[in-house]
Amino acid sequence: MRFVVDAMLGRLARWLRLLGFDTIYNRDFDDETLINIAKNEGRILLTRDETLFKRALKENIKSFLIRSFDVIEIISKLNLYIDDSLIGSRCTICNTQLVSDASSRKCPNCGKIYWYGSHWKDINRRIRAIKGDSFANT
Ligand SMILES: [Zn+2]
Repeated sequence: MRFVVDAMLGRLARWLRLLGFDTIYNRDFDDETLINIAKNEGRILLTRDETLFKRALKENIKSFLIRSFDVIEIISKLNLYIDDSLIGSRCTICNTQLVSDASSRKCPNCGKIYWYGSHWKDINRRIRAIKGDSFANT
């Protein structure tokens, strides 16, 4: 599943990227741009905006109206399959595939470095919590 998300869903976009989902997010994109990206790239549009949601449906774009602020609840609603091997494989800032070495993963696009260690463990713990919850709800 590949996504494009609206300007109000930045936190969700970072989570989706963290879980390995190809997710386009840019605060500056207007409705027209979001619709075009979804249409041209076959992406699922996630939005908080009911007007945009209805417009997407009219244009035969797969879309979800997101009302919750709870990431766990959203992931459950989308019925996402979380692939362990893809967790942490994508830059949460710019959506680029990360390159791994012994001590870190690095984004070849924006240069952000994701160090292994306590930070990574914390992310894994939160993801396990998400997976447990989403499975319990399905
Ligand atoms: Zn990056």
